[in-house]
Amino acid sequence: MKNLEVFKKWIDESSSIVFFGGAGVSTESGIPDFRSVDGLYSQKFDYPPETIISRSFYERRPAYFFRFYREKMLPLGFEPNITHKVLARWEQEGKLSAVVTQNIDGLHQKAGSRRVYELHGSVLRNYCTRCGAFHSAEFVKESEGVPKCRCGGTVKPDVVLYEESLDQDTIEKSVTAISRADLLIVAGTSLTVYPAAGLINYYRGNRLVLINRDETPYDRYADLVFHESLGDIFSKL
Ligand code: ZN
Repeated sequence: MKNLEVFKKWIDESSSIVFFGGAGVSTESGIPDFRSVDGLYSQKFDYPPETIISRSFYERRPAYFFRFYREKMLPLGFEPNITHKVLARWEQEGKLSAVVTQNIDGLHQKAGSRRVYELHGSVLRNYCTRCGAFHSAEFVKESEGVPKCRCGGTVKPDVVLYEESLDQDTIEKSVTAISRADLLIVAGTSLTVYPAAGLINYYRGNRLVLINRDETPYDRYADLVFHESLGDIFSKL
């Protein structure tokens, strides 16, 4: 049997699929990966992305942080792609128990998924650090310098910065879902960004499927590997 047919058969037989996705899921919607440093980037910013989106940099130079954030991390107006849509359909059909994502764009929810564990937070949630008021992503996008609430407090995106810890509740829910999964699909990630690799170790089954354009250090642990674009695979499922 060809790999794709095996994969389809496993999906048919599953009732608690977990999908673990990285930046590759979003780039196919046209959203650039903010971790990738392109030529344009180096002309505009004096520091690598890992430095700018750290907690200490955010506190030291918030206006600089928000200039990077608006330009590189807050791409609004993008739409879910075929992968987001198929995953939402599986959840409605009772086949998929959770999406665990490293992305912060909210596209899984926009496609209709409900159980989405966002390890790195979401640009769609922004709160005043003084009064706690909610602010939209558009508000942050359209503000200038450091976004300020009407009370005068700083509005901080609910996005996990380097040097910050991940939300414990989100981690626990992800671990539970992965440890109970009958099929684990890991896609669009090289598994080098913390805590991806650690989380998939909680999977106990023997149907681990890896989909990534490039090889990953985990290919040899997977039961099926596809080095193709996600769209190519998911449009056939
Ligand atoms: Zn406020």
